[in-house]
Order: sequence, then structure tokens, then C-alpha cells
Amino acid sequence: MRIGNVGGRALLITGDNAGIDIATVSGGAFGPSMQTLYDRWADFRAWAARAPLDAQVRHFTAEEIDAPAPSPRQVFAIGLNYADHAGESGVVVPEEPAVFTKFPTALTGPVTEVTLPEGNVDWEVELVVVIGREARNVSEEDAWDHVAGVTVGQDLSERKLQRVGPLPQFSLAKSYPGFGPIGPFLVTVDELEDPDNLAIGCSVNGETVQKSRTRHMIFSVPVLLAKLSAVAPLLPGDVVFSGTPSGVGGARKPPRFLAPGDTLVSYVENVGQLTQTFVSA
Ligand code: ZN
Repeated sequence: MRIGNVGGRALLITGDNAGIDIATVSGGAFGPSMQTLYDRWADFRAWAARAPLDAQVRHFTAEEIDAPAPSPRQVFAIGLNYADHAGESGVVVPEEPAVFTKFPTALTGPVTEVTLPEGNVDWEVELVVVIGREARNVSEEDAWDHVAGVTVGQDLSERKLQRVGPLPQFSLAKSYPGFGPIGPFLVTVDELEDPDNLAIGCSVNGETVQKSRTRHMIFSVPVLLAKLSAVAPLLPGDVVFSGTPSGVGGARKPPRFLAPGDTLVSYVENVGQLTQTFVSA
């Protein structure tokens, strides 16, 4: 099942940029917002399994799609979660996840124009997980059962601000407006043959810059959810950016950063793709 957020209304996706309005078809039992689905995820799944897919279909453009998890109470992000990216960043493979946040105002839909702030803006394609059932002290074995679905994310990062000050400040440097595009849809885990082994990558102006598989994560999604939920309860609609593989611009020789006019396309296998274009301030 794929669920899209178009103009603040949750749609059950039935075809290419087409879907049925969940609030309308359910007679108001679910929707219109995505968060109402996450808040009653088990009930929603049961309803959706027998939803009338021949209901009136609404068509939309890619530009009209909003973030599939638009109002998380918490956004978790993981640094250096692929060994090859830790290596290119000049740090040893971590023994515990490096956790930061992207402030929720940075989240957008999947097809956007991003204004470049001063500094060096870099790309980081990531698998993004959306929580569907509150998770406290969840075990690795039970972790995927607490996930509503996954989507594609870009953890856009301004590298100068990231290193200004006495300690790294990833959270702030990764939270400019438009720095957290996610989408295009929430894809439920049952749609994926192996949710722990998905091709992932991105390209700049058609040139592949990142290309890996999510099985190369140092801390898999179940391990991350177990470790995070041992500290903070993970709430329905919360978002986890699970880390990026190697190939970021700052690690290239010479470094390469996003410039006005660039187009960044990011994908996760069988999940979807994002398209960002960049303009100067
Ligand atoms: Zn990242």
C-alpha cells in the first residue's frame, strides 16, 4: 500500500499520481490528514485492506505532493551509518549510532526548489522510516512491526555551519527551509521483498554520486529503533532518517557542493524518488 499527502489530504495511491481520498471514502472515519492515520494505524490498515478502490480517483502532479509524514513530534537522524561513508569522512566505524535531529520545519514534499543559504550545501540520500505504533524499549525482532512504512529522504546539509562552534551542530546545519525533502509516498513494509536490503542512490545533473544498498548500514533499521526507543518513546508519525552511504560532495577530491541550477535526483528501490532543484538566495 502506498499513501500520499496531497494538499493536506491523505490519498490511497491507485496509480501513477492518482489516488482515492481516504477521508471521503471512509466517510470521515480516517483522514483527512496523514497524522490521523498514524494515530490509529492498526485500525486504518484494517479498513484500508477492504477499501473500495473503484471510488472516485483524484489525479495530481508530482509538485503537488506534500511530505508523507508532515507533522512528526520527533525527527531522528543518524550520522555515519554506512562504513564507507564513515571512512570517507575520516572517522572510525562507530560502535554506537550518532543521533541528531532535523527540525520539523525543514521537511517538505518530494519535488521542490531549494534556496541555497551561504556556505557549502551537500547531499545525503537516506531511507526514511515512519513510525506507525508507539515504540518503547522495542526489541529488534519487533521493530518493523512498529513501522508504518518507509519513504525516500534527502538529509541536505550545510557543511560550514555544521562545524562552526565548539562542537559539531548537525541539527542546525541540516534544518534550513527545504533541507528535509521526503516522499513521494509512504510505502508500507509489506510492499518490499526485503526492507533491509534496498538499492539507494542519488545523482547530480544526471551524474551518479551515491549508489549503495541499505544492507550496508552499520546499524540496521531494527537495531536503530531498538536503540532509540530504549531512550525516547517513538510516537506515531515520527520520522527516522537512517543515514547516508558514501559519495557525499564534501568527501570528493576536490569537494563539490550544490550550486544554483543543479538538479538532485534521489531514489530508493521500489520506494520512489525525489527531485530537488537549487536556486541562489
Ligand atoms: Zn544524514
